[in-house]
Amino acid sequence: MPPETFKCYLVNKDSDGNVSAEVTQRAFEELPPGEALVRTAYSSLNYKDALAATGHPGVAKVFPHVPGLDVAGVVAQSGVYELVEGDRVVIASLALGVDRWGGFAEYVSVPLDWIVPLPEGLTLRESMILGTAGFTAAFCVDTLQRHDIGPDSGEIAVTRASGGVGSVAVALLAKLGYSVVAVTGKQSAHEYLEKLGAAEVIGREEVDRYRDRPMLPARWAGAVDTVGGNILTGVLRSTRHHGCVAACGVAAGSEMSMTVFPFILRGITLAGIDSSTCPDPLRHDLWNRLAGEWKPNDLEIMANVIALEELPERIDEILAGKITGRIVVELGGEQVVEES
Ligand code: NDP
Repeated sequence: MPPETFKCYLVNKDSDGNVSAEVTQRAFEELPPGEALVRTAYSSLNYKDALAATGHPGVAKVFPHVPGLDVAGVVAQSGVYELVEGDRVVIASLALGVDRWGGFAEYVSVPLDWIVPLPEGLTLRESMILGTAGFTAAFCVDTLQRHDIGPDSGEIAVTRASGGVGSVAVALLAKLGYSVVAVTGKQSAHEYLEKLGAAEVIGREEVDRYRDRPMLPARWAGAVDTVGGNILTGVLRSTRHHGCVAACGVAAGSEMSMTVFPFILRGITLAGIDSSTCPDPLRHDLWNRLAGEWKPNDLEIMANVIALEELPERIDEILAGKITGRIVVELGGEQVVEES
């Protein structure tokens, strides 16, 4: 039986819009009903979690709120025959931490269809080094493949490469044999990106120039863009005939200004990615691939492991674009498995 209360990172927003947060104990009755109660071993910090934790109106609507899109843990109580106590599970890239209290907590209560059994080949900790960011990177790579962009097609650009989605995309594409060009705003991240497998590392300014030109010399066979705005238009204007750009993020702005010429003269595709609505069969398939032939060679290079109490500092850093790699939040850790 779980204890009477559980520890969580609780965010409050008052009627004047002032946001505060604390690590505190809350009663189990406050969790919404669910088909499974999961004891959290690890969570992770994504850009969207930082928005939720600072009261951004586009994420959580109801306060107090516990952010955290991601959980890796063990089923503590199950109300359905598909799950039994002790099962190891992953929840990522859905409405956890948005519509209901999320993974910055010792326990979460979730519907059955949010749960992915931890695939053979991944530990709970590794699944959270990947988390929503890694799953989204995999969804982007799958999208490139569906548009016939293979390792022999040519160079693939990954923007915002030192961030969460960017880091996993670089490592994953390199593992699959693609020639990856990592685009970063951080001089200090060059060595890190080369270790992940980037064939070349270039500065952001190299894809964000000649904004007045409708097309630029064709270079990219494909791209994973996690930035949007001028960086995305720079990438699209430099994409080769019949190339594909998978776009999932917005840091450099939500608006795009460009002509249709790259689309109608080079036949390129701009593929939008929304990982939260990825169909269930593909979601399970992508997790299995991430645990198997797609698993990056050294996930630990990306990992920074923190405690719940260290979140405020890291939330400020991720919002300021200062994080390199992935932040894993340790709650119960490996002990959760031993106790189950
Ligand atoms: P991170 O916060 O981990 O990425 C941070 C990186 O972004 C920084 O390290 C920096 O990398 C880069 N960056 C920061 N500010 C700017 C800027 N103004 N212009 C260009 N680059 C900047 O984010 P995540 O990896 O968690 O998420 C990346 C994006 O993807 C976010 O916009 C997020 O909302 C989105 N996302 C979308 C999903 C979807 O399904 N559509 C799912 C998951 C995430 P560098 O210095 O290397 O350039």
